[in-house]
Amino acid sequence: MNHLSIYKKFDNGSFIMLIDNSKERYLATQNLDLQKSVYGEKIIKLEDVEYRIWEPFRSKLAAAILRNLEENPIKESSSVLYLGASTGTTVSHVSDIVGSKGVIFAVEPSARVAREFLENVASRRKNIIPILMDARNYLQYYSYYGLVDVVYSDIAQPDQTEIAINNCKSYLKGGGHLVIIIKTRSIDVLMDPKVVTKNEAKKLEKNNFEILQIVDLEPFDKDHSLIHAKYMG
Ligand code: SAM
Repeated sequence: MNHLSIYKKFDNGSFIMLIDNSKERYLATQNLDLQKSVYGEKIIKLEDVEYRIWEPFRSKLAAAILRNLEENPIKESSSVLYLGASTGTTVSHVSDIVGSKGVIFAVEPSARVAREFLENVASRRKNIIPILMDARNYLQYYSYYGLVDVVYSDIAQPDQTEIAINNCKSYLKGGGHLVIIIKTRSIDVLMDPKVVTKNEAKKLEKNNFEILQIVDLEPFDKDHSLIHAKYMG
């Protein structure tokens, strides 16, 4: 990773694409929690700004951007309901992107990973509100906030699409965006992953979503795709 230079800036520079001298591309976000690396990612300084390298093998949103996601709906100042925060790898980059004017409601039910998430990420970043609950019980966190700009879901469950739809119906603005990671093997191990993804996209269409793009995450994640959809309200 020698001689990195900025290749492209997205969304007012809230995340950037870098290129090195062998034309390898890297993503990075401007670090909101200075000098803190969350999952072993490299910290770099360019033009006096500190960035964290955003690893596509660790974060499916980074993988989708490198696989040509046309629009990342998570921007500076966005409000995001994030289902499946885990230890906070992707949430930390989303937190960098939305910045101090944005907010992330980060839902995670597993006590084992939530502890690391709280210690390492959520307690250090003011724009993250952790919700230690199961996203199936979406009505239980009704009191937290009003409507959000984006629902991001990465929960690897057989009923992942239904859970995302229920959360969107309760919390997503009309015209807001859903980004859902489909782990096809959690739904059907035998069916062709492309067919599984198409079936999940159809469920979204039946529930008033317009599909904007489907991105296959190979080679970063096998049998995973990302669906970007717009909620018509
Ligand atoms: N999004 C994370 C990232 O990129 O850093 C990785 C998420 S990991 C693939 C899936 C997470 O979803 C796990 O931490 C799991 O505990 C959580 N999860 C599973 N079922 C869930 C549910 N019903 N509601 C909320 N989270 C759930």
